[in-house]
Amino acid sequence: MTRRISILGATGSVGTATLDLVGRAGDGKFDIVALTANRNVDALAAIARKHRPQIAVIGDESKADALSQALAGTGIETAAGPKALIEAASRPVDWTMAAIVGSAGLEPTAAALQKGAAVALANKECLVCAGEYFIDLAEQRGAAILPVDSEHNAIFQSIYPGHDRFIRSITLTASGGPFRDWPREEMTAVTREDALAHPVWSMGDKISIDSATLMNKGLEVIEACRLFGLPSQKVGVVIHRQSVIHGLVEYIDGSVLAQLGSPDMRIPIASALAWPERMDTPSERLDLASIGQLDFEPPDEIRFPALRLARNALEAGEGATAALNAANEIAVAAFLDGRIGFLDIARLVSDCLNGLEREAALPNRFGGLDDALHVDKRARDWTRAALSSVDA
Ligand code: NAD
Ligand code: MG
Repeated sequence: MTRRISILGATGSVGTATLDLVGRAGDGKFDIVALTANRNVDALAAIARKHRPQIAVIGDESKADALSQALAGTGIETAAGPKALIEAASRPVDWTMAAIVGSAGLEPTAAALQKGAAVALANKECLVCAGEYFIDLAEQRGAAILPVDSEHNAIFQSIYPGHDRFIRSITLTASGGPFRDWPREEMTAVTREDALAHPVWSMGDKISIDSATLMNKGLEVIEACRLFGLPSQKVGVVIHRQSVIHGLVEYIDGSVLAQLGSPDMRIPIASALAWPERMDTPSERLDLASIGQLDFEPPDEIRFPALRLARNALEAGEGATAALNAANEIAVAAFLDGRIGFLDIARLVSDCLNGLEREAALPNRFGGLDDALHVDKRARDWTRAALSSVDA
């Protein structure tokens, strides 16, 4: 049977990997309804010509004409702007890949869940910024959330059906990023290129920087607590440089179930795309004998303070986690633009959380998505203002 699917963030690292699997599955397996991107008209037009969606949407409104010209004569509908993204995400489908990066993904992902489609969730920001809202929405609409983040996908696969009540703890693995062996003093001089050179995974720029600061793991701890309904103390992190084991679930009897695989995002994406079945991938098969050795060590929260910041925000509540995420998005963009140093990223996020709390207490829980978007904006404004005073 043909499954109707949409891919939000189709030109990105996760979006491209998803389209690779869709293309390999062959004719008749998938019918693409919507493909979306932010600004890159050429990339969007190229994948639209190849995969023939009903509609292609560009987030940047000023690119509306360029997109419609690029797809003229193809019969593919085009649209532009944030409202068009939401409209496209609302079109009826069986499955949606939510792979927009950052809090820009919140409203389109919510629109997909509203329609009750299964949502493959790559965008961790939804759960970090407004976890309760998204979990409740999925439940009310009867929509499955299928985690795509490799660690969460591993845990999802390792929860024996019906045994979630017997979980003692879960563990997320982390490669440790490019600076796992660097002394903190040397991290002051880290360049954009150093930070983007991830030792194991190939990913978009934002998440690559988050992997280098370990903020990514912090965001993932928050994501895991909300996805699996666990308190922070039950969600551990271990540095595992080979990235072969992605996540582990410990049960009360001492059994530990884990998912292993080559570090290739097409494996967790395929597990969500074929769910509740399985599909072939071209990914390298795991050969433990040739890998030889797997290493594990605890994360160092002194050298990588972002992990501790994220745990503290999780304890404080939804207002703090939404602010943490927004401040981090602005700080990472400023680092990528060469405006601040690598160690300034976590410092700026910490200053923002303290600054916002001084202005007005951040809410512990949100009433709805608008509350989350309000805190997101407050934190962005605060961080931008702090940056312009640094530049001045
Ligand atoms: P990416 O930067 O490669 O791609 C992001 C996609 O979102 C692009 O298609 C871009 O056009 C679109 N986009 C960006 N800003 C937008 C905006 N304001 N409005 C509309 N569209 C916008 O990112 P990625 O690495 O593919 O990551 C996507 C999401 O998946 C992130 O939330 C990331 O944390 C998560 N994730 C990624 C990986 C990975 O291996 N890349 C692994 C786990 C989780
Ligand atoms: Mg991950």
